[in-house]
Amino acid sequence: MRKLVHRPRRLRNSAGLRNLVRETKLSAHDFVLPLFVSERVTARQPIASMPGVFQLALAEVASESQRAYDLGLQAVLLFGIPEKKDEQATSAYAENGIVQQAVRAIKARCPDLVVITDVCLCEYMSHGHCGVTHRDGEHFHVSNDESVELLAKTALSHAAAGADLVAPSDMMDGRVGAIRETLDGNAFEQVGIMSYAAKFASAFYGPFRDAAESPPQFGDRRSYQMDCANGQEALREVARWTQTNGLLLHPGKTQIVDAAEKGGFDFLGFHFERGHRWPRKKSLRKLKETIRGATRRNNGQSLARIIERVNRTLRGWFEYFKHSNRWTFPPLDSWIRMRLRSILRRREGRRGRGRGADHQRWRNAYFDTHGLFNLEAAHNRECQSLTR
Ligand SMILES: [Zn+2]
Repeated sequence: MRKLVHRPRRLRNSAGLRNLVRETKLSAHDFVLPLFVSERVTARQPIASMPGVFQLALAEVASESQRAYDLGLQAVLLFGIPEKKDEQATSAYAENGIVQQAVRAIKARCPDLVVITDVCLCEYMSHGHCGVTHRDGEHFHVSNDESVELLAKTALSHAAAGADLVAPSDMMDGRVGAIRETLDGNAFEQVGIMSYAAKFASAFYGPFRDAAESPPQFGDRRSYQMDCANGQEALREVARWTQTNGLLLHPGKTQIVDAAEKGGFDFLGFHFERGHRWPRKKSLRKLKETIRGATRRNNGQSLARIIERVNRTLRGWFEYFKHSNRWTFPPLDSWIRMRLRSILRRREGRRGRGRGADHQRWRNAYFDTHGLFNLEAAHNRECQSLTR
């Protein structure tokens, strides 16, 4: 028998052990069901390139959504196939367009289901491009700004129909800003935008084009979708969009891991390294600074008041960083308790009793009973709610 110190396989021995130490868990809450609803069919039609997926008739879309909801899914993403296509994509923003009708039908049947709508023009354009296209013989040009106007109009009509999120998938420049402005200007501040900030021109979307009947009739999408060889450009584009448009990437749904990147990389307040996501050093430093300010030893406030203030900071911080690696949290909890113990010790006029004695005098549970927000416990609760 070899004398091995590390036998990582021990933790892989049974399903129970593997479940116990699994880092990533998926539940029905993490999925969005795409629904293709067509004005051209009266009953569901199979999609050849996506076995088991169908184009639905408008009459079936609400019951299909209800079925998904009953199975635990919480969100659907609607793609529309209109009866009529033209060069201005007029069906895309018609009040009684196929998507607009579908949203209303779903919301009437399942008001709690999150309804996301794909916002693009290709399904509604006779030529299948994602924007207004000008042709000059063999050459064609997709006009950015004209297309953005129509995209904003489309998003607005989806919001008016009751969509929770609009999802522009077109890759025109500046469309997210334009959509945000249009929504806000029409009292739809609450409607969110889920944008494909870095969408590559690739065969990956082929089956979706079949499903949505939107392959381009001439040329390809390389003048607006990104070159798939450009990973750096993609990250830059995402970063710029999040900054200029005040967008948030859902950190729980975003996994950007580049194994080739030495030492990991920072993005949106997180540090990504070898498949793990940590808060950035800078974010931690800022958090500690705030806590330090609230827990000075000569702070004259009552413990309850101090904890209240610390809790407010911690809750806000946790809301954003809750999907960080689990080892982020326990050291922070210990550090905060140490700060509080130091205040308590000073109040008792005790000196130099050392941390061990403080620990005996004010155990961790003492702070729990005083309602101190516990990051580790909150993180555990979060993980449980994901698997439920
Ligand atoms: Zn498109």
